Amino acid sequence: MMLPCLACEARFVPDDYFGACHDYNRGRDVVAWTCPRCGNRDEIRVLPGELGFGYRSRGRYAVLDRIRVPGMSRRRHDLRLDISIDTRVWRVPTRVMPARTATPA
Ligand SMILES: [Zn+2]
Repeated sequence: MMLPCLACEARFVPDDYFGACHDYNRGRDVVAWTCPRCGNRDEIRVLPGELGFGYRSRGRYAVLDRIRVPGMSRRRHDLRLDISIDTRVWRVPTRVMPARTATPA
């Protein structure tokens, strides 16, 4: 199974593809993905058995296209998303935003 970059149409084995996922956003339920080939950054919603591609809309995420990934499952944690296919697991951590420090005017 090969998974595509929608920008440059390069295709990747799951290990390379999911290894390029980063910054799980639990609120919008998407992971960021940076293409190892062209550097395009996308957001992907990982769903049971499929990947959802879409766009941001008023702070939410609307899925437009789906790619089937048979056997894929996901598990949401507070600070990461686990993506698995068969016995393989990829862990995508949440980016923890540094606390904003107030700057006196
Ligand atoms: Zn690409």
